Amino acid sequence: MIEIAIWFIARSLIYTHTIWDNKMNKKETIKTPSKLRQMAEKLLSKKEKGTEMSFSESENKKLIHELKVHQIELELQNDELKLAKERAEMDEKKYTELYDFSPSGYLTLSRAGEILDLNIKAADLLGKERSKLIKSSFGFFVSPDTRSDYNSFLQNVFETKLQQTCEFNLVLDNDCIKNVLANGTISSVDGKFLMALVDIEKLKQVERELVISKNKAEENDRLKSAFLANMSHEIRTPMNGILGFAELLKTLTLTVESQREFVDIIQKSGIRMLNIINDIISISRIESQQTDITIAHTNINEQVEYMYHFFRLEATQKNLYISFKNALKLNDAFILTDKEKLYAVLTNLVKNAIKFTKTGSIELGYDVKGELLEFYVKDTGPGITDKQQKNIFDRFRQGSESLTENIEGSGLGLAISKAYIEMLGGEIWVESSIGQGTTFRFTIPNHPDNEKKELLQTIVEEEIRLKKKLKILVVEDDEHSRMLFNKIIKPFAGNYYQAMNGNEAVEVCLHNPDVNLILMDIRMPGMNGYEATRQIREFNKEVVIIAQTAFALPEDREKAIEAGCNGYISKPINRLDLIALINQYLN
Ligand code: ADP
Repeated sequence: MIEIAIWFIARSLIYTHTIWDNKMNKKETIKTPSKLRQMAEKLLSKKEKGTEMSFSESENKKLIHELKVHQIELELQNDELKLAKERAEMDEKKYTELYDFSPSGYLTLSRAGEILDLNIKAADLLGKERSKLIKSSFGFFVSPDTRSDYNSFLQNVFETKLQQTCEFNLVLDNDCIKNVLANGTISSVDGKFLMALVDIEKLKQVERELVISKNKAEENDRLKSAFLANMSHEIRTPMNGILGFAELLKTLTLTVESQREFVDIIQKSGIRMLNIINDIISISRIESQQTDITIAHTNINEQVEYMYHFFRLEATQKNLYISFKNALKLNDAFILTDKEKLYAVLTNLVKNAIKFTKTGSIELGYDVKGELLEFYVKDTGPGITDKQQKNIFDRFRQGSESLTENIEGSGLGLAISKAYIEMLGGEIWVESSIGQGTTFRFTIPNHPDNEKKELLQTIVEEEIRLKKKLKILVVEDDEHSRMLFNKIIKPFAGNYYQAMNGNEAVEVCLHNPDVNLILMDIRMPGMNGYEATRQIREFNKEVVIIAQTAFALPEDREKAIEAGCNGYISKPINRLDLIALINQYLN
């Protein structure tokens, strides 16, 4: 009996001890019997072999009592152990959760850099499943350009046993590069390499953006000074012309010819100054986001032709051959866009082409590229270097910023053009090589203006057809233009007259006081259109006179109105526009 009791106590002790050992995570206790167990088992075998021991009844009672107490003690101890075990499991779970869901990546590496353990975040950073990363080399994920930094970091931490940091790049499977900050130390428990990883890609991005902003701010500062110097020069030069020649006009006795020449210089200088001021206003409006887009019916063929006529004289004076190309037929050339912006961009590009080209030619036009219209202005000028091509669309930038080179311009034209084209939903770029010339190209969406086409072709034509009673006089010295008018205008005329110069026009009007519409050419041999209009107005205030001319300068329109015309249209005449104009005045 007593032997059983002793054995029981000994086993209980062994059991208790094993649980404690388990709790302490020393699993070997289960496999190799503890010393206590060995002792107990020895004791038991000795007892089994040992001499008979006899106990009195009272001793037996006492022993049984002690055994019972001891059993209760063991049961209480067992409960406590269970509780402690649960708590330990909870703690372990908490630790695992903390480890796994930490916002930083944690890894345990061997001395050779092999991954022994890692948390979920670390696996995320490496872009693979955790189980697939165990036993792989961490160095494999480090980008070649930063691998030596990582290797020395690993080595240093092992040698010094001190905590150290290092920045390097990770290359992931999709070739994406991540900038990380690593914090490494040696575990005091097992001597392994412990590493915490933080993704600093966003931080680095912000840092890079800050550096760019800082550089840009410094660059802007420098550009503003250069701009001020340039503006000062640009304003002073024409001012010099204006004030200097005004002074000369005042003080000297001059021939009429010299006076004209001086006034001409003053006028040109004034225009140059106005251009600068307009550019400054445009760029300020763009920068303060006050530039509006006004989408309207636009005849792009007319715009291109207008440019051609507008700049032909200036180009010819420089001995440059200028030509244009329209890709669409008249009926398809109506689109919806901002006419004024398109006009401003084309003007700037053609102006530059003429300004920078010394010999050769300039061509402007457009092609249809899918949903887009691609405009171009091509010249045979000096070309622009690759380096300059990067700057010229920036505001205040001139290709050459040398102070010795005196080329007229604010350096704003291309910046304004770029802003306008982007507002219209297009792109602008340059193709150029030194000595070969330059082509500026830009795109705008090709939104066909079907509404305008239909409107003009149906409603307007019908309205005019009702006016079959119209008596129309076409004044035109050029035979082909007369033929064109026959085709366009005659269908709407009750009576149709033609005159080849101003004198004939006045005659026709004198004999036909009921003429209601005159299409008046301006430049004609003999009496020109201005003079003819003036004379007709002396006896007929009612007739609608529309001037039509190839000189499409704004001043021409004013001159025509001053002479007594009601309206103005530029050649080549666009049929639908002419019909709309006639309709407007005769209503
Ligand atoms: P600017 O008023 O000075 O002409 P822009 O913004 O219109 O300003 O042009 C910027 C710079 O681009 C010019 O100073 C010039 O160096 C270069 N550039 C523009 N167009 C041409 C061209 N057709 N040929 C050569 N260089 C050009």
